[in-house]
This record gives sequence, C-alpha cells and structure tokens, in this order.
Amino acid sequence: KWKTIALENRSHDELYEMEETFNSMIQHLKENFERQQIFVSDASHELKTPISIIKSYAQLLKRRGKSHPEVFDESVEAIESEADRMQQLVGQMLLLAKNKGHAPFERIELDKVIEKVIKTFTTAYEREIYFHSEGGEVIVDGNNDQLEQILYILLDNAIKYSEAEIDVKLRRQNDSVVLRVSDKGQGISRADQKHIFDRFYRVDKARTRTTGGTGLGLSIAQAIAELHGGKLSVHSEIGKGATFTLTLPIVL
Ligand code: ADP
Repeated sequence: KWKTIALENRSHDELYEMEETFNSMIQHLKENFERQQIFVSDASHELKTPISIIKSYAQLLKRRGKSHPEVFDESVEAIESEADRMQQLVGQMLLLAKNKGHAPFERIELDKVIEKVIKTFTTAYEREIYFHSEGGEVIVDGNNDQLEQILYILLDNAIKYSEAEIDVKLRRQNDSVVLRVSDKGQGISRADQKHIFDRFYRVDKARTRTTGGTGLGLSIAQAIAELHGGKLSVHSEIGKGATFTLTLPIVL
C-alpha cells in the first residue's frame, strides 16, 4: 500500500533526510536489479554452448548417423554429455536461487556431517581423504543440507584439481569453528583467487570444460557460508595446492 507523506510543515533537515533515505533505497534496488540482470545474461551464455553443441550433433546424426555407425556413437555420446552439463548447470542455478531463502536451521553436529560426506566421497572416488579433528562434538546452528553442500563442493574441487591425498581439519577457535579442506594440487594464482568465488568463473575455461566444472560451486559455497553467519576463504600457492577455510560461529 502506498502511504501519503505530508511534506508540508517539515523542516529542511527532515526533508533532506527523507531524500537521502529514498535515494539509498533506489540505489539498493538498482544494484540488485543489475546483479540479477548480469546473472541471467551469464546463465544464458553458459547454457548457449551446450545447446549449440547438441544442435550440431543432432544435425550430424540426421545427415550421416544412419550410414556411419561411428558418427552415430560419437554424436549420441556428445549429446548425452552436453545434456548432463546442462542438467548440472540448471541444478546449480536453482541451488543458488534457493540458498537466498531461509532454510530451517537446527542444532548440527558438524563433525558427524563431515564424517558422513567424507565416507561418501572415499567410496565413490577411491581417493584418500583424511579427517583430523580435536575430538568431541562440534555443534553449529545451521541447515544440514546446506552444510553438506559446502563440503560436497570443496571436496569435489579438491578431487578434480589434485591427485594426492586430501586433508580435512576441524577445530574450535575462540567463538568459531574452523574447517579446512586442503589439497596438494595445481593451486590457484593470486590473481585468480580474487575471482574464484564469482559466479561462472573458471580459471582454465578449456580444461575445466572437460572436467565438467560450471564455475558456480564456490559461489554457492560462499553464499551458504554467509547465510550461516560465517565466511569462506582460500589460501593457495601455484603448484603447492589449495586450502579452503570455512569459519562458522560455534554453539556452546
Ligand atoms: P567449477 O565448477 O569450475 O569447479 P567452482 O566455483 O567450484 O567451479 O571453482 C571455480 C574455479 O576455481 C575452478 O574452475 C578452478 O579453476 C578453481 N578451483 C576451485 N577449487 C580449486 C582447487 N582445490 N584447486 C585448484 N583450483 C581450484
């Protein structure tokens, strides 16, 4: 509902203050709108590539698929893998949209969540992931699915971008709980570290295409960390690996 604000009988200072408030509201809306526009245009751009690949393979199938079995096999394979990529992209975009809302928070035993996710990963990828914890329960106030999601993203990256073992460390520090995921992989340059939390940013676009990255993982992880009143940061040196640190407020 619109409220009518009487402007008569207002002091100069009061009018000035109202104008300031109004301007900052407009500025805020404008920035939000611009961010949304950028997101939509980035997202469409990212979806365009798999769509055009699918289209050209479908055309190839039409022209030569029946007479050339090898063309048939290659095309079906490519169409399937590009469709997978689109599915992953759309799924992650929906996650980003969802993480804006308020998922229910509850008392979470973070150490148990970590153990569960690590078990899933070691089984699925046959990689060595070590968990170091001070022991004892580590309780945070949060959403179970979202916290699992952060771990999935960080471990998935560590697996994709490194070959040796991966270390996960959990400890309490003053009023916070600190979770570190470290790998001994290729690392991330200082310049790239500034952008990896941006949506759709990938360091090596050509190579990550074959590893199937979308560039959305870390921006989702960061959004979740912020929703939990925490933060996510990176420390890395080229050639020496990367460490991602998640800090969350602890529940005593
Ligand atoms: P992606 O789906 O491409 O992995 P992310 O947002 O999760 O998207 O990561 C953005 C980019 O940051 C990646 O494309 C990769 O270049 C870089 N990156 C993320 N994690 C690591 C890591 N552990 N080691 C090296 N590079 C990484």
